[in-house]
Amino acid sequence: MRRKLIAGNWKMHGSRSMADALVGEIAAQRPQDADVLVFPPFPYLASLAARHAASGIGFGGQDVSAHQGQGAYTGEVSAAMLADVGAQWVLVGHSERRQYHHESDELVALKFAAACAAGLTPVLCVGETLQERDTGQTEKVLARQLDAVLAISGIAPFYTAVIAYEPVWAIGTGKVPTSQEIGDMHGAVRHRLIARYGQEGEKVRILYGGSVKGSNAAEIFAVPDVDGALVGGASLTAADFLPIIEAAAANAPAE
Ligand code: PEP
Repeated sequence: MRRKLIAGNWKMHGSRSMADALVGEIAAQRPQDADVLVFPPFPYLASLAARHAASGIGFGGQDVSAHQGQGAYTGEVSAAMLADVGAQWVLVGHSERRQYHHESDELVALKFAAACAAGLTPVLCVGETLQERDTGQTEKVLARQLDAVLAISGIAPFYTAVIAYEPVWAIGTGKVPTSQEIGDMHGAVRHRLIARYGQEGEKVRILYGGSVKGSNAAEIFAVPDVDGALVGGASLTAADFLPIIEAAAANAPAE
């Protein structure tokens, strides 16, 4: 069993004062037996990372440019810039980026590589739509999304990088797969990694994401191969986020 990682994706929510107060509350009240990180909107990242540098909470960007170095890419934020303002993490391939910004598997793979090159730790999101699930394509979709990244970056970055399995139909909907379904999909990702890279595939942390709440977190964290959670809506208040961190900490491996 690995130490759990709880990541909060704030999406396009909050304000400067809310961001500072929320991180302050989480830092003060969180149990220490789980790793915690947040993905605030870009404008709040630098000041949060500076003000809460000693909190032990990690900070990351919700997206990153696939372009490395500098360039004429209006609106883009490079991985080096994120690292420069104190981010250690970055989300790549969130389903909202894939869906609304038409990010292909190949673009996501380039973003992943750019993040690694700048010393950031990527959280790679993979997951199937409802239509893909209903037509029996879930495992094929996960394999395709994963293989695109492995083809460029290989397995080595995944000793620190993280995979987040997020069924698209469970994000923000209140619908959660059964524990059996979550276990099956995490197992499928794990088997793919092991099939390609042998026992090295055992080291990769795989998070579950999609309508995780304080009320269902303990059950989800008890599923084999679930190494934590990527949390959207329930990461926006300390009252909702802390119980999830507590459930993760209660599930920590014995020292
Ligand atoms: C997400 O945004 O990645 C997510 C899992 O959202 P929610 O927890 O609200 O379903």
